[in-house]
Amino acid sequence: MEKPTKIKMSKNTEHNEHFLQGAPGCPGIAIGRCSLYKRQRPRVSDTQVDDSETDHHVERFRDAREEAERELNKMLGNQDDGSVTDLIKTQIEMLNDPELSNQVEREIRVNNKPADSAIQDVFEMYLQVIRKNHDDALERSVDMADVRDRLIQILHDHTDDIIEDSILVARELSPREIIEFSTRNIKGIIMDRGGTTSHAAIIARSMNIPTVVGLKEATKLIDTDECVILDGSNGEVMLEPSEEMLSKYKKLRDQQVAAQADFEEICKRPNQTADGHPFSLQANIEFAEEISSLRKYRAEGVGLLRTESIYLSRKNFHDRQLQQEFYESILELTAPHPVTIRLFDTGGDKFFEETEREQNPFLGWRGIRMLLDEQDLIKNQMRAILKAAANFKGRVRILIPMVSVLEELHEVQEMMKDIQAELEDEGVDTDNQVQLGIMVEVPSVAVQADLFARHADFLSIGTNDLTQYVMAVDRGNERISKLYDQRHPAMWRLINQVAEAAEKENISISVCGELASNPIAACCLVGLGISDLSMNTVVLPTVKQMLLAHTYADMQQFAQKVLESNTLEDIDQLFLNWKEKTDN
Ligand code: PEP
Ligand code: MG
Repeated sequence: MEKPTKIKMSKNTEHNEHFLQGAPGCPGIAIGRCSLYKRQRPRVSDTQVDDSETDHHVERFRDAREEAERELNKMLGNQDDGSVTDLIKTQIEMLNDPELSNQVEREIRVNNKPADSAIQDVFEMYLQVIRKNHDDALERSVDMADVRDRLIQILHDHTDDIIEDSILVARELSPREIIEFSTRNIKGIIMDRGGTTSHAAIIARSMNIPTVVGLKEATKLIDTDECVILDGSNGEVMLEPSEEMLSKYKKLRDQQVAAQADFEEICKRPNQTADGHPFSLQANIEFAEEISSLRKYRAEGVGLLRTESIYLSRKNFHDRQLQQEFYESILELTAPHPVTIRLFDTGGDKFFEETEREQNPFLGWRGIRMLLDEQDLIKNQMRAILKAAANFKGRVRILIPMVSVLEELHEVQEMMKDIQAELEDEGVDTDNQVQLGIMVEVPSVAVQADLFARHADFLSIGTNDLTQYVMAVDRGNERISKLYDQRHPAMWRLINQVAEAAEKENISISVCGELASNPIAACCLVGLGISDLSMNTVVLPTVKQMLLAHTYADMQQFAQKVLESNTLEDIDQLFLNWKEKTDN
């Protein structure tokens, strides 16, 4: 879910420095000249060619196909990320589809079309078929359109103006464009569109390219060749930086590069506090592309697999086989660790039709409320998950989003029993250890944590939503964002209550909301007895570093003080003291 994006522009009066504020895409500092990139849909010729010229056009098409394959193979050679190589291989397969090539050549010979317009027309025909007949139409059609544009650009001898080693400024980039530009050593990415959790930002993170997204007007405000500073950690871009700023940020950048090397070393160390208390750090992911980062930072499995994008990108996601394959691929790549798969958390602000929009979407037909009304959807998903679980025994947990009353949990428990029985009747060797847990993100569940802890197999605290419901602050509304602080004393009291309930019933408890990504808050959570934390993989080393540096006993004392605080100001002071203690 997107974080609020602040767009501000401020000017330092002593210099000409301007700051643009967007959202963090991938942490890291980049300094350098910009290249403006405009995606161009190539225009194809609309004239016909003479019969005498058709052979020449067929030749040109074949040459372009060979060149495109060469380019893709070169990109393949530069990649070690599994999901990225899969994507390039798919495009190579499309390029080599004999039926597609025959059709292009037929269009040239029979209908006297020039090579570019034959490619355009044949690909368009294929795209229409894909859109009608495939559940994964979106991904396939993006690949297909990429291959088409590559071929036409080669025919037109088109090159873009991207300068090697520059910072790329674009309205929007597809994951494929990011992969392609990464082969030209781009130093950073600035995008008008997208949020922290957009697919482009996720790919940028997995390729470790400092990125700022959601700047809205960067392409209008930044010129080609202009020198900028980009800080992907806080989503800032600085235009016309002074010499002083440049040297400050160069130093910071060098420190960060050095820290990166430390991160890998930190991630190899055992997960235990300075006095030996164990903790576990898992990853929140949504796409297979994020697995390489999960492995790099040695996350112990997936604490939250968000599945909404599968649902939203494949409208009416009814193909169980495809779903099952997706879950299996995640399980395969994260072995031997556990994977917690959350049922579709759709509705609310994620809906298909404008008519589905509600007046209070976050208080509306969302998560399990919607799923229980759409039985086909939830049963399909549970079946796909349970079949995948049968092949990876003891590793799957199912998480129910937006539970607010006990009956919702019971209904899903019954459904799961029925589906397991059906699968057994069909001869599937099911896994009877699949755990069924709930998100604690609605205050009623936190307040009745003792009750829910008696009935659920595990609890996972979603502090992103819990904060918005406890504080009555829309998590995306900038006007009141000052009130949206996950570290508010009211939150700590509730979290403590949930942790105590889980301990009493001896069930597992974790935090998968953003609070766990704050290194100091992570110490406090461990101090409260929540030692399983799940977060975006990029922040994992920083959190781990903080947890390694302190003793469990100190964390417990710290948590106690946090629990006794009355205001956010008190919490700020405690956090500041903890930071100073760490720095000394
Ligand atoms: C949460 O609410 O804290 C959470 C992890 O879920 P999401 O951000 O997907 O709503
Ligand atoms: Mg949530």
